[in-house]
This record gives sequence, C-alpha cells and structure tokens, in this order.
Amino acid sequence: METITIVGGGIAGLALAAALDPRRFQVTVYEKRPELPTVGNALGMWPNAQRALERLGILEQARAVSPVLGSGAVRNAQGEPWVTVDAGEMFGISRIDLIRLLDAAVPAAVRRVTGTVQPVPADGSLVVGADGVHSVVRSTAWGPGTGSHLTPYLALRGTLSTPVAPDEVGEYWGRGDLFGMAAARGGSFWYASYRSGLGPYGIDVPSALDQARERFSGHAPAIRRALAAATPEQCLVQRLWTVPQLRSYVRGRTVLIGDAAHGMLPTLGRGACESLVDAVTLAGLLNSVPAGQDPAQALRAYNRQRRLRTRAVSVASTALGRVALADRAQPLRDRMLTLARRRNRQAAVGNGAGR
Ligand SMILES: Cc1cc2nc3c(=O)[nH]c(=O)nc-3n(C[C@H](O)[C@H](O)[C@H](O)COP(=O)(O)OP(=O)(O)OC[C@H]3O[C@@H](n4cnc5c(N)ncnc54)[C@H](O)[C@@H]3O)c2cc1C
Repeated sequence: METITIVGGGIAGLALAAALDPRRFQVTVYEKRPELPTVGNALGMWPNAQRALERLGILEQARAVSPVLGSGAVRNAQGEPWVTVDAGEMFGISRIDLIRLLDAAVPAAVRRVTGTVQPVPADGSLVVGADGVHSVVRSTAWGPGTGSHLTPYLALRGTLSTPVAPDEVGEYWGRGDLFGMAAARGGSFWYASYRSGLGPYGIDVPSALDQARERFSGHAPAIRRALAAATPEQCLVQRLWTVPQLRSYVRGRTVLIGDAAHGMLPTLGRGACESLVDAVTLAGLLNSVPAGQDPAQALRAYNRQRRLRTRAVSVASTALGRVALADRAQPLRDRMLTLARRRNRQAAVGNGAGR
C-alpha cells in the first residue's frame, strides 16, 4: 500500500483525506489544532466547489446548513449600489460547518495525529502540504525563498445573530477599505479589510474592533450597526498573507494543495473553493494510478490541471483587491462606477421604451 502523509487538516487536507481510496492508500493526517474550530465566517461556495462537495458526498448536507447568497450589490461607502450581482445557486457555508462535514467524511482507516509537524517526515511516503499559507512543507521542499508574503491589509470577519436586510447585502467600497455583509445560518456575517499596522501576529481582537469602528464611523448606517453589534468572541482578525508564484506544485514526492500552493487575497472569495477542487482533483488522479505503479505521472497531471488555473484566480483576486481597496484612485474609481450605473439605467429605460 502506498503511504500518504497529509500535513494540515484544514479544508484542503480533510477533503483530500476524505476523497482518497482507503483500500489503496494508508493515509495519515497531521493537524496542530487539537479541536475543530468554533469561530468562523461564511465561505461562498462557487459552482466548482459545489461539484467538489458532490464528489465528496456532502453537497446536500452542506446546502442544508447554508443559506443561498442570492443577490447583493457592490456599493459605495454610503451604501448606494453601483452594480447588482446575482450569486445564482451559490451558498455561504460557515467554515465551522464545512470543516465538521469534511471531518466526518474522512474514513475511519485514516490515521489522525494531533501536533505540529516540524520538520516534515522523510519516511519515503508521498507528502502532501495542506498546511496553509505559512506552509512548512513548502518552505522545506521549495526553499525559504518561497515563504509567505505579508500584505498591508488587515481582515476582520464575524457573525451576528441578526439578519441582514436584503437592500443592505453586498460589498461596500470606500477609500482604501471594504466592508461586506451577507446572510448566514442563524443570522448574518460581515467582513472588513483595510491597511493597518496591527500585527502581523497576536492581534488583540477588541482593539482591532475598536479600530474598525473608528475607521468605518463615517460609512453607511448598516456598517456602523454591524460593527456596534460585533463581539470579540464572534470575530476573527488577521493580517492577510499571500504565497509567491511557484513554478510547480510538485517537487519529487511532495505536492502542495490549498493555500499552501496558492494562498491569495480573499477578494474573490475563492481560496477555500479552489482548495476543495485541488483535493478532489489530486485524489481522483491518485485513486486511478494502477496498484504498484509510481504516482509521478498523476502528480504531474495534478500540476498541469491546477497550477495555471489557480494562478489565474489569484491574479484576478489581486486585481479586484486593487480596485476594491483603491486609495488615491478612489475618486476616479467611484466616478467611473457611478457613470457605468447611470449608463446601465439609461440603457434599461431605453430598452423598456423600445418594446
Ligand atoms: C478574510 C478571509 C476571507 C475568506 N473568504 C473566503 C470565501 O468566502 N470563500 C473561499 O472560498 N475562501 C475564502 N477564504 C480563503 C480560505 O479561508 C482559504 O483559502 C482556505 O481556508 C484554505 O484552506 P487550506 O486547508 O488550504 O488552509 P488552512 O485553512 O489554513 O488550513 C491549514 C491547516 O493546517 C494546519 N497546520 C498548519 N501548519 C501545520 C503544521 N506544521 N503541522 C500540523 N498542522 C498544521 C492548520 O492548523 C490548519 O488547520 C478567505 C480567507 C480569508 C483570510
């Protein structure tokens, strides 16, 4: 039996452990977190992630605990909508629920070890780095030059037990900051991002919340209400990090999935989705390697299928982040978006009149 060591039991690592054929592989998952997380925001599940959840056999359970995101708007800081976005069938699953469902889908034959992996085991097994943006697997096998990159942005996210009004759903773009609100199970969730000198480690959550309240004090009433109701217990705060572009996600018998491979800005809300797709893609390829054969070809196929695709998503996230968090260019951005909205309205009126 081929042995597989998965470092990291987050979204990517658990999804991989759940999708690998236990009759073919002896799998061990190392996870430093002793328990399942109890605080977490909602993650928008795009169609590709929904297909991955289906392959894992948990799509219906995921849907059952998650509200459909419906439509929302990109708004200015005062809440006036520029563009309405229909999220279609996308749903927002809480990170807690997603990890719980993935964890329950992992076959009993998978060995679980609680503890921090350092150094990476060199026992000849196939090693999968699913250990997030600060991956020790990446820095060990790819070298210290591939360490995570600290961005100037702080991210706060939290849940509220109160619902968000339909005409307040969406993302609010201010000068150098953004704030988002959407429906979540049992209430709503919110997130905010802006440049901040706090951190990068050990950020005091109450101080960060105070900073955010001050920062957004001149913004739309919906934002001020959400921040006034936010509690440190239901809030996660972190500086945002990204992963430099790698030439390959595979090096010998080591392979990277999830944020360890392509940690990106969360502006498009795609990191967890792409992590799920990485996991089911890699598992599908490994499961189909004939018994006793070297998995090298499957690893190369994984790299071919996933590297450019995730690179494109990462580049798009950075580009959107520049627009959403524009600072000096904010007045120009706002003028252009206002103009675009007016044009769209005129076109809609024109089309109506022509019918
Ligand atoms: C503010 C914010 C909002 C986001 N919103 C969205 C969204 O709406 N939609 C979306 O798709 N994505 C979103 N993302 C991205 C998403 O959270 C990540 O892409 C996803 O969590 C990556 O999963 P992962 O399993 O690769 O890494 P992680 O979630 O980081 O998991 C890595 C795991 O490895 C463990 N670990 C790390 N090092 C070691 C070690 N040495 N030994 C043992 N265990 C270790 C950690 O404890 C952790 O459990 C967001 C991210 C942020 C920061």
